[in-house]
Amino acid sequence: MLNKYGEVLENVSLENYNTYGLKTKTKYLIKPYTINDLQNLVIYLDEEKIPYYLLGKGSNVILPDTDFKGVIINLDNLNNITINNNIVTAECGILLSKLVKTVIEHKLKGLETLGTIPGTLGGALYGNASFYPDKSIYDYLEEVLVLKNKKLVTIPRKDIQISHRYSSFKEEKVILLKATFKLEEGSAKEMQEEIKLMQEKRLKTQPLEYKNAGSVFKNPEGLSAGKLIDEAGLKGYNINDAEVSLKHANFIVNKGNATSKDIKELIKYIQKKVLEKEHIKLELEQIIIDW
Ligand SMILES: Cc1cc2nc3c(=O)[nH]c(=O)nc-3n(C[C@H](O)[C@H](O)[C@H](O)COP(=O)(O)OP(=O)(O)OC[C@H]3O[C@@H](n4cnc5c(N)ncnc54)[C@H](O)[C@@H]3O)c2cc1C
Repeated sequence: MLNKYGEVLENVSLENYNTYGLKTKTKYLIKPYTINDLQNLVIYLDEEKIPYYLLGKGSNVILPDTDFKGVIINLDNLNNITINNNIVTAECGILLSKLVKTVIEHKLKGLETLGTIPGTLGGALYGNASFYPDKSIYDYLEEVLVLKNKKLVTIPRKDIQISHRYSSFKEEKVILLKATFKLEEGSAKEMQEEIKLMQEKRLKTQPLEYKNAGSVFKNPEGLSAGKLIDEAGLKGYNINDAEVSLKHANFIVNKGNATSKDIKELIKYIQKKVLEKEHIKLELEQIIIDW
């Protein structure tokens, strides 16, 4: 029945669908081929009261240890881009790296600072992802097409509220489908150079050799979460295979077989220690999912 709406996988491990590599299983995972498939799928799942959850690249989430009895929706097949002069429209399953590479090839500037973030366009809009604190994916956004109450609705930029790692989409049950940006002309060579520098910086400062989901905590106003955790003496502290990275203290790495429980206990421990020492409550940047 489900295969009417896209490619279906059954009783599948989500290990390759979340960057922590957690081995939670799902009853179904579906990759709709088109936006209409996705809309009809959601109508069907709602009618049948089947739970569903949308995952991008799973690079900002902590999945639960318990298996999911519903349907994971994956947007890998929704990755088309159209470019008309400086107007770019892309479907939200596209990887940021691919979107950025394509617009740079068209000498279009504005999105290049997102080029090294390992998520989808939808995930970046949802969480207002950025590499530099003063740059946002919303700087050049015109509008987003979303699925809301089973209807396709276009939301103009002015109706979306944002702040650090926050968009008002977090308050609504919507699926982001397609985004339109108005970019500027730029030098492809300069933008490629900039991406190379960002990637070098990541390699030098982040534990990319281990599975992780990026920064665990938001930086408190004017402070660095990594520095606070380091000063609390927590680098290398571990609960089973979940470890505070030796390279960057605001990363938790999975050394092999970490569970969701290990990661969440480690998060609580870090929060407790930083609160005791610095009187600062670290706020999570990663999203804890509870089916
Ligand atoms: C090594 C590493 C480095 C990172 N560096 C950065 C960085 O520099 N800056 C930064 O901001 N982040 C960074 N991240 C975190 C992460 O890559 C970003 O938050 C990214 O935007 C998440 O996208 P995703 O597709 O993986 O979303 P997921 O993690 O799959 O999902 C996150 C949330 O968004 C929701 N969501 C995803 N797609 C949609 C959609 N189409 N419609 C509605 N909801 C949706 C999901 O349901 C979930 O609640 C890093 C992560 C890693 C592993």
